[in-house]
Amino acid sequence: MRIDVLTLFPEMFEGVLNASILGRAADKGRVTYRLVNYRDYAENKHRTVDDTPYGGGGGMVLKPEPIFRAVEALPREEGARPPRIILMCPQGETFTQRKAEELAGEDHLVFICGHYEGYDERIRQYLVTDEISIGDYVLTGGELPAMVVIDAVVRLVPGVLGNEQSPVTDSFSTGLLEHPHYTRPADFRGMKVPDVLLSGHHEQIDMWRRKESLRRTWLRRPDLLDLRKDLTAEEREWLAAWQREAAEDERS
Ligand code: SAM
Repeated sequence: MRIDVLTLFPEMFEGVLNASILGRAADKGRVTYRLVNYRDYAENKHRTVDDTPYGGGGGMVLKPEPIFRAVEALPREEGARPPRIILMCPQGETFTQRKAEELAGEDHLVFICGHYEGYDERIRQYLVTDEISIGDYVLTGGELPAMVVIDAVVRLVPGVLGNEQSPVTDSFSTGLLEHPHYTRPADFRGMKVPDVLLSGHHEQIDMWRRKESLRRTWLRRPDLLDLRKDLTAEEREWLAAWQREAAEDERS
């Protein structure tokens, strides 16, 4: 996968893209990163990338020319599918694990990181294929949001995580939150690891994990359960039992 990032602050990415799993993904040749400062594509000698808004008002607006030119100058690999051109923007679609899975199947992603008050609307209308927000809050620039999306996507690119770190049971991948984890010691200051995890009985361990994953989702993110249409009869029974217990607790 090729990932191009258009930013006014390429230095912000150096540590993140070179460290840990994102760095190893590049070392293994699974991903190639390219950082482009779109100020290099400004047309005047002052390398201006922003201007005042038509109609007046505060804040500066990113001009269309540098961003269009920077995207148009990106090398395209022969035979690769056209890139997804992603505008980081608080008004975009909220980023989810589903979106990360979808983007992980692409050949080429281009991230545009904004700054200042906003983008010239023609960038949104005529250049980009996706607009992504990482949540309902406003940051100073699109760099941190782009890093969040890149991190979530790259770990899903085949061959990036080893089998032992398989992402298939991660929270949201299954549509549920992940079950609790424990490691040694089995007894820490009297706080004990559940017996079933020490039993060596794999079927029972799997069932415990499925049940705890469902319970945790029901307690913390019941909205996710509304989307899960494929719960088994056993899982429905567990849910019904917890709901009865909760109703009894409320009455007493
Ligand atoms: N005035 C804009 C608005 O109300 O939509 C916010 C501009 S913000 C100060 C500057 C840049 O930060 C945005 O263009 C975008 O690239 C990035 N940004 C800020 N919050 C973001 C979020 N929640 N998700 C994605 N990008 C964000």
